[in-house]
Amino acid sequence: MIKVGVLGFGGLGQAAARVLKPKQSMQWVGAADQKGYVYHQEGIDVNEAIAVYNLKGSLGYLDNYGVLSNESIKELISVGAADGYFLALPNLPNTFMAEVAQQFIASGWRGVLVDAIKRTSALAQLLELQEQFQAAGITYLTGCGATPGLLTAAAVIAAQSYAEIHSVNITFGVGIANWEAYRATIREDIAHLPGYDVETAKGMSDQQVEALLAKTNGILTLENMEHADDLMLELAGICSRDRVTVGGVVDTRNAKKPLSTNVKVTGRTFEGKIATHTFTLGDETSMAANVCGPAFGYLKAAKSLHDRGIYGLFTAAEVMPQFVN
Ligand code: NAD
Repeated sequence: MIKVGVLGFGGLGQAAARVLKPKQSMQWVGAADQKGYVYHQEGIDVNEAIAVYNLKGSLGYLDNYGVLSNESIKELISVGAADGYFLALPNLPNTFMAEVAQQFIASGWRGVLVDAIKRTSALAQLLELQEQFQAAGITYLTGCGATPGLLTAAAVIAAQSYAEIHSVNITFGVGIANWEAYRATIREDIAHLPGYDVETAKGMSDQQVEALLAKTNGILTLENMEHADDLMLELAGICSRDRVTVGGVVDTRNAKKPLSTNVKVTGRTFEGKIATHTFTLGDETSMAANVCGPAFGYLKAAKSLHDRGIYGLFTAAEVMPQFVN
């Protein structure tokens, strides 16, 4: 049984706990949010945790095992005995994920980490910590959501038919009924719009986000995003990063996807034929399903590397996810 903690208990963190509920080989034992944390080695009641978080704003208010804290991540790492953590945290500012990783390194904790990080520049910061992860005995799989993540890994598989890869084009459609369920995701998406950056998006109040969404009828259209799929595919030797593009449409007022999420991989075969492979996600699958499923599949893969004494940073394009039963 792999004992798993989740950092961040917003949209993705809560979905992660729900994904783990029926699993036999993984158990959810802890989580931290901005104001508190919960840890219990025998597992936590998911429904109760979500109800308390949504009512009171923090897991710290849970009757059993909840602790209010301004240093929730640090305290959870020190009291908890999880084998691994899924970092479902906002990467706001753009250095936050690397700072959290450094907290794990400094704590002396050994285990596995996965994230669903998005920006190329954020992944580049983690790469600089490579030797520190190795020395600390941490196996960290980065970029393990949907994009980067599931779609990047699918591109690696699709590339195998070709002698040369000309382009990898990722287009995502996300439908969420209510933007407040995924505040960080939406703020980070706004940061890609013309005229915005991570700092301006981080500084926007909820009212300002709502005012922006009111102007666009709840739709965000994103093009040529700075997404780490490009660096991951370059590091995996598939193609140079300038051949990778990512864009999409997010509807913040409708759970139905505005378009089908897909990755198109175009290349030349050894016979000289030009072709395109397309991998399309089922429209019924939510963003949460396509992020949390891969994140835990990669966490399981990270655990098997860790058990074999293989430490350091790997991307979702280098390692095959395993299936969590
Ligand atoms: P959210 O805003 O719904 O929730 C964030 C959670 O983090 C909250 O529980 C909050 O209390 C907690 N938090 C914030 N600061 C904290 C701190 N200092 N210490 C402890 N906890 C803290 O976030 P979300 O919409 O679920 O998004 C999470 C991340 O997932 C974002 O970075 C988003 O970009 C990423 N994401 C990736 C993909 C992908 O495919 N790769 C897809 C969707 C979202």
